Amino acid sequence: MRKRILVTGGAGFLGSHLCDRLVEAGHEVVCLDNFFTSHRGNIEHLLGKTNFELVRADVTNPVQFEVDQIYNLACPAAPGHYQYNPIKTMKTSVMGAMNVLGLARRVRARVLQASTSEVYGDPAVHPQVESYWGNVNPIGPRACYDEGKRAAETLFFDYHRMNKVSIRVARIFNTYGPRIHPFDGRVVSNFIRQAVAGQDITLFGDGSQSRSFCYVDDLVDGLMKLMAAPDECTGPINLGNTNEFTVKQLAEKIVALAGTKSKVVTGRPLPQDDPTRRQPDISLAKKVLGWEPKVSLDDGLRRTIDWFRTIDLTDYRPPTPNFVA
Ligand code: NAD
Ligand code: UDP
Repeated sequence: MRKRILVTGGAGFLGSHLCDRLVEAGHEVVCLDNFFTSHRGNIEHLLGKTNFELVRADVTNPVQFEVDQIYNLACPAAPGHYQYNPIKTMKTSVMGAMNVLGLARRVRARVLQASTSEVYGDPAVHPQVESYWGNVNPIGPRACYDEGKRAAETLFFDYHRMNKVSIRVARIFNTYGPRIHPFDGRVVSNFIRQAVAGQDITLFGDGSQSRSFCYVDDLVDGLMKLMAAPDECTGPINLGNTNEFTVKQLAEKIVALAGTKSKVVTGRPLPQDDPTRRQPDISLAKKVLGWEPKVSLDDGLRRTIDWFRTIDLTDYRPPTPNFVA
């Protein structure tokens, strides 16, 4: 059935792919974004559609829309972006959550929170299951994001218990694909940008830390399945690919797939509190959503490399240095 759907952060990497799918399915989509980390090109092709509307706004301010569903994705997601103004990041997570939850309560909309594997911090349990409470440094440089997202989860469950708001909480693990910001400093965007330009591939530390990488189409499928799931499926529920690789293995794979002469180099410091290992346990998503990723890392990386070859990097704002006191 045709629904009215608000996507906050809808012009971003994940948000724009989600808007594509929702518009294609015939829903009326309102995309709200403050364009902090997004690129207009991500949603330009949707602007002429009668069932798509773009609103430039900030989720830290109250919002009023008559909608049936809300996907709350507004928040910088890459370490360099969320550490640029950590106080604003925390406000975006916490005040953004309060604002979308307040709206959901008023108009009786169902609301999905884009939470993160970062709620597990540097995990002492591997792979990470939803019942694990995590290992987060509350005062470190990643805390603005990790604790902001944890507080947002708390708010979601309190609005659910207290006000019967229909909630869905997805814990998203590292996701990549076309439209990822080429200068966001994340590992896939950095390595592909470097490989395509024939530059050195920069491992932080010795590259033995691991991550598990999910292709964007799979992730968006998971979000939509979770939104459509029965009311008892509040989550939190892990969404990600279980294909764990070290960062060094990822670098070597990207060099091979891009067919470049780039060298993989060490010597850069490992950022503070960088999680050592990360891999989702997705048994719950398989059981309650019937969801699991389908796109292999090789296929997903090929598609992403192809996209990087089509973009003009001068269209994108270059990296903003992190704030240093
Ligand atoms: P992104 O930076 O491309 O998207 C975030 C979007 O939110 C951008 O369009 C940005 O302009 C917008 N935004 C930021 N602050 C805002 C504010 N105050 N008001 C309105 N809009 C604001 O990143 P992404 O990878 O697409 O991430 C989307 C969501 O998914 C984020 O909430 C992120 O925490 C979550 N997530 C992503 C990943 C991943 O690997 N991509 C992993 C875990 C969680
Ligand atoms: N990383 C790296 N080189 C880079 C960018 C990132 O070795 O040029 C490492 C980073 O230290 C981390 C991993 O890759 O261990 C994933 O980093 P990213 O910023 O993509 O995401 P997150 O740490 O939030 O999972």
